[in-house]
Amino acid sequence: MRVLVAGLGAVGAAAAWRLAELGHEVVGFDRFAPPHAQGSTHGDSRITRLTAWEGPQYVPLVQRAFALWPELERVAGERLFVRTGGVFLAPPADRLVAGSLASALPHGLALEVLAQAQLRERWPWLTPSVGQVGFVDPAAGILFPERIVRAELARARALGATLHVDEPMLSWRAVGDGVELQTARGTYRGDRLILATGAWMPAELAALGITLQVERLTLHWFAEQPAHPFGPESAPVLVMADEDTHATAVFPALHGAIKVATHGSGEFTTAEAVERAVRPQEIASARAVLDRFLPRVAGAHLRSATCLYTNTPDGHFLVDRHPRHPQVVLGSPCNGFGFKFSAATGELLARLALEPDLPASPAWRLPATTR
Ligand SMILES: Cc1cc2nc3c(=O)[nH]c(=O)nc-3n(C[C@H](O)[C@H](O)[C@H](O)COP(=O)(O)OP(=O)(O)OC[C@H]3O[C@@H](n4cnc5c(N)ncnc54)[C@H](O)[C@@H]3O)c2cc1C
Repeated sequence: MRVLVAGLGAVGAAAAWRLAELGHEVVGFDRFAPPHAQGSTHGDSRITRLTAWEGPQYVPLVQRAFALWPELERVAGERLFVRTGGVFLAPPADRLVAGSLASALPHGLALEVLAQAQLRERWPWLTPSVGQVGFVDPAAGILFPERIVRAELARARALGATLHVDEPMLSWRAVGDGVELQTARGTYRGDRLILATGAWMPAELAALGITLQVERLTLHWFAEQPAHPFGPESAPVLVMADEDTHATAVFPALHGAIKVATHGSGEFTTAEAVERAVRPQEIASARAVLDRFLPRVAGAHLRSATCLYTNTPDGHFLVDRHPRHPQVVLGSPCNGFGFKFSAATGELLARLALEPDLPASPAWRLPATTR
């Protein structure tokens, strides 16, 4: 098969890699030159975990991704994942806790629930708020998004893929059983098309009556303190939420920098219009979360960046064939939690493109109204 892939970020790069491994001809396109900092896949690190507050249906997908990362590490010859374990703190009814526990049960995942005293005993620098409970996902850790995208694209290229960077898709159309994709440089024919354009997907899905919302988020790095080593060898990845704080992730220090990212800014924008500059108030909010839950751990603010979520109406992935053109497969897997699945999501998109009898998962299908 000759498969065109539009968007070579986390999901599209993975799709290109898996297609190339299967011996198919891949022609990929990106608006920029991935990995880059314009979309959703930058900022050095992403949390992965086996538990899925998003729902038990995500567990097999993340398990498949956990199986694929070592394969990519082998061919790339570099480390792409560091297991640190993960500590998740929230009120018991919060979906971070309740949803994660519900996902662990049917899949028999190892999970440790810790009372506040146990949390403090194990991590003395942690100060949970009253009412928070904690659980530990021992499989959790850090993925390196830029390295992963680079490795997937390099492997796809080595297997014969042609990747056109800085060459955005302008349009596509079905031609018989195949597709034709238009860029400013030419017209390309393929048997299949995978659309994985991340924060640029809204226009595509608006044509099907689905509204995606692009949300502006910020990332912040603070200096690791010499008196408080906080590297991946000693610190877990942390996610904390309480009544006053949106779920906030804190990453162990990489190259001396501790990263903080807060979920759910509620600031909706577009990939074209997003304000890239980070405001002083946003840095102060990140600092306040550190001061509240990990006082004394982080030093001076080092730098910040903006990043984009692409949110679906029900908060779940959309991974399906186009309702009118089954040779076109689309994936909108962000909602702020998509990276950990991306190797498996890319593979799933590839399989939906290649295997006409493979049904799309009911959990991630396009709504019936689009059919
Ligand atoms: C602040 C932040 C923190 C996050 N933290 C986590 C985390 O800890 N764990 C986790 O699992 N997930 C996390 N996520 C989510 C995760 O990073 C995303 O779900 C994932 O990276 C999205 O990948 P994507 O392929 O959909 O988008 P992208 O990687 O952005 O890829 C889309 C690509 O399409 C290209 N493109 C756009 N238009 C066109 C066109 N017309 N033609 C060709 N190419 C085009 C773009 O240039 C881009 O390269 C976080 C996201 C953010 C923003």
